[in-house]
Amino acid sequence: MKYIDPHIHMVSRTTDDYQRMALAGCIAVTEPAFWAGFDRSSPQGFFDYFTLLTDSEPKRAAQFGIDHYCWICINPKESEDPGFAREVIALIPEFLKKPTVLGVGEIGLNKNSRNELTILEEQIALAAAHDQLILVHTPHLEDKLKGTKLIIDAIKRNGDIDPGRVLIDHVEEHTVKHVLDHGFWAGMTLYPDTKCTPQRAADIIETYGAERLWINSAGDWGVSDPLAVPKCRLEMKRRGHGEDIIKKISFDNPRTFLGQSQRFTVDA
Ligand SMILES: [Zn+2]
Repeated sequence: MKYIDPHIHMVSRTTDDYQRMALAGCIAVTEPAFWAGFDRSSPQGFFDYFTLLTDSEPKRAAQFGIDHYCWICINPKESEDPGFAREVIALIPEFLKKPTVLGVGEIGLNKNSRNELTILEEQIALAAAHDQLILVHTPHLEDKLKGTKLIIDAIKRNGDIDPGRVLIDHVEEHTVKHVLDHGFWAGMTLYPDTKCTPQRAADIIETYGAERLWINSAGDWGVSDPLAVPKCRLEMKRRGHGEDIIKKISFDNPRTFLGQSQRFTVDA
């Protein structure tokens, strides 16, 4: 059964990972711009990273029959210096014109600081001005609920954003309802230890249903698993869930949300 991994950082992964994902049924990935495991020393470093995401990575993925799309932004972890962040933001509109870019992301908060919030608001305004989809990163562990609420407030304050065009990622048991109740889409990240394990994600689906919800691996440079999506599907199958809901969470839902961009052309 084919699947989409809608959040994975392939720049940090090997060709072996692409091959294993393709063998497991992956036909498309979307890659948000994020921290790359180190701070970039200049806006030029981001220009090179955005070029990698929009030019090199789609070609690498295509060798394995996988469609590669991406999202562009400055991540919250590198947004603490507003002057620096604004120089990066000035680069973004040119990249939003590229044929595989689906929107602005993953924007959000990391430590919930004032400067992070300022840059988040400016990128929400940028997405609204360019009529872009938004992908949101929520902070870790004890900062997550507070950060999620701050992010939702910032999006609502803008007034020009349709919540149905925003996906708030890395939700957990204590944030998923808040996100869905406000009309947003929610993403569950399947990490081996932190965030949601495949078992916890299956519990959340059983509790809250599968509407406006997707699963992703968020595979990156740290401890993570590029096969997390098919592993979660196996867990759901083991629990006796039918093909319909398994396909909905791992293929139909991502396709519906991402298909709001004309550029996302994965067929049903
Ligand atoms: Zn990410």
